[in-house]
Amino acid sequence: MAVIGPSARRIAERAAALARIGAVGEGVTRLGLTPEERRAHALVARWLAELGGRVRRDEAGNVFARVGGGGSPVLIGSHLDSVPEGGRYDGALGVVVAVEALEALRAAKVVLRRPVEVVGWADEEGVRFGLGLYGSSAAFGRLPAQAAERTDARGVSIREALRALGLRGDPARARIRKGSLRAYIEPHIEQGPRLARQGRALAVVTTIVGIAHGRVTVRGRQDHAGTTPMSERRDALAAAADLIAAIARAAAARRDAVATVGEIAVRPGAKNVVPGECAFSLDVRAPRERDVAAVLRAVRVAAAALDRERGVRTSLGRMDRVPVTALDRSLRGLLRRACAAAGVDAPELVSGAGHDAMNAQLDGVPAGMIFIRSRGGSHSPREAADPRDAARAAAALAEALRELCG
Ligand SMILES: [Zn+2]
Repeated sequence: MAVIGPSARRIAERAAALARIGAVGEGVTRLGLTPEERRAHALVARWLAELGGRVRRDEAGNVFARVGGGGSPVLIGSHLDSVPEGGRYDGALGVVVAVEALEALRAAKVVLRRPVEVVGWADEEGVRFGLGLYGSSAAFGRLPAQAAERTDARGVSIREALRALGLRGDPARARIRKGSLRAYIEPHIEQGPRLARQGRALAVVTTIVGIAHGRVTVRGRQDHAGTTPMSERRDALAAAADLIAAIARAAAARRDAVATVGEIAVRPGAKNVVPGECAFSLDVRAPRERDVAAVLRAVRVAAAALDRERGVRTSLGRMDRVPVTALDRSLRGLLRRACAAAGVDAPELVSGAGHDAMNAQLDGVPAGMIFIRSRGGSHSPREAADPRDAARAAAALAEALRELCG
């Protein structure tokens, strides 16, 4: 029997209340470790305190609230920061759904013999300090060395930002003791068009894609734009343009692989100078490591050919790698059953975006995710989700929690 009672109306009201914090027109700017994010955490903490949650904040700025009996908790939730002028649902809706699952369990008078803890992660987007999944990285022991010293565009470090929020300034202290969580479940909007196309409300995530990202530099020779014949040029930008086209082809040749050049710099950058150097970002993602590797290989082959053809020298700098993360198999099964109990036949999907759930799974905590159908893309004010779909996700999550903790 399904847990009844998630309220689409309450979900919509709460999503709207969060969207007012940092509102910019139709969008939201609520960057990590700012007073706006802190206010969002405080609002969620108030809802959870009303549900009898024991609220605490950790040294990384994440907020938690626990309900239910003793022992190791099942952690549920998502993040409360946004990108600049982002949408109101990315992250925030997952937290609202987690709270709503507890509302539904209470309404159904389900006794939680084991604890459930709701989390609102800090700075998942990594916009301000360039450190994505920051809050969950701190909690799951995956922060890079010297993370606290990273600074934002104004020179404020993470340590200083934490102190401004009344914390001690050492995010590594947020480390959750290994083995102390039973599971982590994250509801999140899909941020893509697949569920809407299939006419389904929810999906269960199988795998979070692997990512390779870094910088490519093409070095040519700076010359006069009027006096240098075409045959004698070593134009770094023209070579980079060919290489970028080759990158797009390399990704398109592999099913489910994507590659993006999102940012480019040209030196010296004048209309009458043949570019001497061109550097650009490269981001390659795929649900299988071998596809990530194959795209990178194809890029290197294309770069070597262009070096010969155009007399340039291309280097692929060190590529940072995020491994492909398969989410917990038995939780996947449980979540599909829970979705079915909530009346939704949920397909399995790969996530092309990184999520906090990765850090849990990589730290040995069985992790699962429920995707909620969304429209209008994501990281944009056009982002949209139907509160009735979110209510279905809350019902499924409540059902899963009843099985795990009831
Ligand atoms: Zn998100």
